[in-house]
Amino acid sequence: MAADRTVFHVDIDAFFAAAERSVDPDLIGVPLIIGGTGGRGVVACASYEVRPYGIRSAMPMSRALRLCPNAVVIGGNHDLYRKLSGEFMAILRNYTPDVQVMSVDEAYMDMTGTEKLHGPAEKVASDIKERVRRELKLTASIGIAPSRLVAKIASAERKPDGMFTVPPGDEASYLAPMPVRKLPGIGPRAAEKLGRLGIQTLGQLATFKEGPLRREMGNQSLRLIERANGIDNSEVATDGEAKSISAETTFPEDSTDRVFLDKTIANLAEKVGRRLRRAGKHARSVTLKLRYDDFTTLTRHNTPPVSFDGDARIVEVATALLDATLRQRNAPVRLLGVGVENLTEPASQLSLLDSSVATDSALSSTLDRIRDRFGEDAVSRGPG
Ligand SMILES: [Mg+2]
Repeated sequence: MAADRTVFHVDIDAFFAAAERSVDPDLIGVPLIIGGTGGRGVVACASYEVRPYGIRSAMPMSRALRLCPNAVVIGGNHDLYRKLSGEFMAILRNYTPDVQVMSVDEAYMDMTGTEKLHGPAEKVASDIKERVRRELKLTASIGIAPSRLVAKIASAERKPDGMFTVPPGDEASYLAPMPVRKLPGIGPRAAEKLGRLGIQTLGQLATFKEGPLRREMGNQSLRLIERANGIDNSEVATDGEAKSISAETTFPEDSTDRVFLDKTIANLAEKVGRRLRRAGKHARSVTLKLRYDDFTTLTRHNTPPVSFDGDARIVEVATALLDATLRQRNAPVRLLGVGVENLTEPASQLSLLDSSVATDSALSSTLDRIRDRFGEDAVSRGPG
């Protein structure tokens, strides 16, 4: 059995709202919402003051303002968030190079074996929280556990300004009383299916027989049972040394709309391509992950003749994989993911000789600089 790991999940509380307050203390205590104010604007971040009204990220702003008419809405300041995000990640990297950035305000840290250097995990976590408070005027919540999965749940449970440790061996008993929706990946539809089997809590899911579970949940059943037991062996992967880079999204509604699915593939491919270029790598393979409405999940790979780091190639290959997958089974799609694998150094690459790959690479790098300057999705996608 592998040695126990120590994983931190660090997540800033109501990041965009807290960032605005860090530069304008008059906003402290105000029912603040960050997001788009236009006709189709959505909530990017709801301060804790407005959450009791039921206001959440991604809700239409018009609805949020009906729920809380005296809320103060700010359009958002991408440069400020980016600056604070960079400073936040720099604080984390003081303690380990093994920082996996998940979004502007959220990261995993692999702290396994750092006790001799930095002291006990709880002390390090307290230090991090204190530095974030003092230097950035923000609060963070930290979960400490033997896996990414349980660390993430623990930080979310203790928000805001919380900290909690789940020791090795306690994962299953910690999760057991929680409703199934607390497990990342279980949305309303999956919860409904589990409910039909009488499963309300993660403890009930953790001890359910795989056979009967498959009738509702399909191929993912064994993995679901494992996760409900807190079993998750995924590594904390930093972009610099990652063997793969991926991004995925679960839709609010299952979709068969091909235009929408293609657009999602393009968005995910750009995100992945950008991280690939930032890591200074090329990739050999593209992967597509697709989850149908019944929770069946497929992963498809393709390896083009030459390596690449441009968005267009990733979009092209991922779209072809989507074509092939939907030809086999055209059912509503719940989740799409795009990834690149088999990362290599660009210097030795045949791709330099392939003009379409080189052009794609140069064009994508130019777009990266434009996105760096003007922001890619200032308020369209918000952290929790
Ligand atoms: Mg957050």
